[in-house]
Amino acid sequence: MALRLGFDVGGTKVAVALGDAAGAVLARARIPFPATGDPARDLARMIEAAEALLRERDARLEDVEAVGVSAPGPLDAARSRILSPPNLPGWKDVALVDRFAEATGAPVALENDADAAALAEWRHGAARGARHAVYLTMSTGVGGGLVLGGRLHRGAGSAGEVGHAPVEWAGEPCACGLRGCLEAYVGGAAWARHLRRVAAPDGRVAALAGGVGGIRPEHLLAAAREGDGFARSELARWNDYLTRGIVWLVMVLAPEVIVLGTIARAAGESLCLAPVREAVARHSWARPAGAVRIVASALGDELPERAALAVADLALRGDLG
Ligand SMILES: [Zn+2]
Repeated sequence: MALRLGFDVGGTKVAVALGDAAGAVLARARIPFPATGDPARDLARMIEAAEALLRERDARLEDVEAVGVSAPGPLDAARSRILSPPNLPGWKDVALVDRFAEATGAPVALENDADAAALAEWRHGAARGARHAVYLTMSTGVGGGLVLGGRLHRGAGSAGEVGHAPVEWAGEPCACGLRGCLEAYVGGAAWARHLRRVAAPDGRVAALAGGVGGIRPEHLLAAAREGDGFARSELARWNDYLTRGIVWLVMVLAPEVIVLGTIARAAGESLCLAPVREAVARHSWARPAGAVRIVASALGDELPERAALAVADLALRGDLG
């Protein structure tokens, strides 16, 4: 049986997945990350977790035909051999691709997590069948991945960084060092900071969060669902900024589908997707706006595993761009 391994490296955990050639997830596990502060030991733990999944199927590392790793960017400029996650100081310049290749003898590919998610949604999720698709996520930061003409589009290296295109000139400071980036308005961390600043201590959002200081996007969404006026108006502001980002994508790329993850997916049809579609139509030409479907991510909780396995597929096809 053709088995594939996927590792999705997150800020606090690694999702390890065993998949088949069709992209289905056969087994999965989540392990804390970074667990030891020592990259070599953390890598060994990731490999041990993979071996445990393989054992359940009477298989070994040698039976793996491809390995995919999805990790937060930026990845190295030489493409995909070294991992230096920005928030993990001990994890600087870790040659994780070489280590996994050595352990399995299989081809290994490493991809930025938003690009990996775009590939997964395109191959198995809400963008299946499209030749031109965009994936946009707004969990902590805002990530984007572009599939154009049936290939992951990297441009000169960093294509798809929709989150750092400005939606306000000289606007809110962004974690990247620029100002007014889309991420500084619709990224989960930036939005939470904004909401803690503007929410009333005795309002519904603060009550749901157990105090202003605990407000996170899900509290805002819950209050908006209840019809709270403040929450509705803050969500309308958030939708408006998201629309600014999407209008650029529609006018410049004319994609067939734009898949929205995380906060937009959690907000759902009536609170986010329908108003955003309507606003995009108002601010774009009729033809590209009429050609694009703006939909929620279809892979849900399996997205990290699917994304990592989609990168394994890339390793196998040698399509490392
Ligand atoms: Zn930025």
